[in-house]
Amino acid sequence: AAKGDGRGIHRFYSSEMHADAEDRRKLEEDLRHALACDGLHLVYQPVVSSRTERITGYEALLRWNHPVRGAISPAIFVPIAEDTGLIGPIGDWVLRTACRDAALWADDIRVAVNVSPIQFANPGLPATVMSALAASQLAPERLELEITESVFLNDDDGTDSMFARLKGIGVRLALDDFGTGYSSLGYLKKAPFDKIKIDQSFVRGAVINGSRNSAIIKAIVSLAEALGMDTTAEGAETQDELALIRQLGCSHIQGYVYGRPLEAGEVMQRQSSHGAVPLIEGFQSS
Ligand code: C2E
Ligand code: MG
Ligand code: MG
Ligand code: MG
Repeated sequence: AAKGDGRGIHRFYSSEMHADAEDRRKLEEDLRHALACDGLHLVYQPVVSSRTERITGYEALLRWNHPVRGAISPAIFVPIAEDTGLIGPIGDWVLRTACRDAALWADDIRVAVNVSPIQFANPGLPATVMSALAASQLAPERLELEITESVFLNDDDGTDSMFARLKGIGVRLALDDFGTGYSSLGYLKKAPFDKIKIDQSFVRGAVINGSRNSAIIKAIVSLAEALGMDTTAEGAETQDELALIRQLGCSHIQGYVYGRPLEAGEVMQRQSSHGAVPLIEGFQSS
């Protein structure tokens, strides 16, 4: 039912089950089982160039269809996976699967993968990334790792060297959900990001309660441009939001206005029916 999204379910879920320890234990057990028995899958949301309005890549988003409870949002189960250490093997699976799927796409289409701060703190991450690339034969520059500001909470030598090791592999790095966390401009100076993803909270309502959100988006865009980074505006839902974002100069756009996350098979279909770089026309799905 909640194909792709799952936010409605999230609301339903949090009111019914939030903070129930017994329930969390059961979910953890079920999640472990899902990982072992093919119960997780990825969907892919298009990322579109502002200038050309063509797809430049897709973000891989994790989905879990619980056999009894139906779709459970990653906003619910990723934190459980992080608390229990399951995020390690789940994150490995996501990387391998996303690289394998993307290797079948056109050469100029990237895949973005979310990396949890727990994975980022694991010195084995670069080896996992290299092994996913090798197994799929995906070129490193076609893989973009999305990292949130929370990795800077324990800002130390380990953080710096992890960035250097990942850049050394040749993958791209994106700073996800920018503006929601512990934003400090200090780390933008030293962390080698290729892209800043502007959180949807700035995009949402930028049209309605206008000027403040717009001013922030504009400032982030000029900062990113000065640092040679791309920007993706997350969560654009309406034509008005789209028009505003393009006017503010974001280089890329990701949101329901261009498309909800697609199953891997649907991505393949679009590639074959629209050529190497699919046009957006007719992309707005239900
Ligand atoms: P995120 O990385 O910021 O992903 C973007 C979220 O925004 C996705 O929610 C996407 O479906 C949603 N979204 C995109 N466009 C729109 C829009 O126009 N309107 C609205 N209302 N929402 C939009 P999703 O798939 O529920 O994922 C939530 C979060 O869960 C992600 O936020 C990410 O932090 C985490 N997550 C998802 N997959 C993975 C994964 O494989 N690994 C890890 N560590 N975290 C993941
Ligand atoms: Mg993301
Ligand atoms: Mg995000
Ligand atoms: Mg987010």
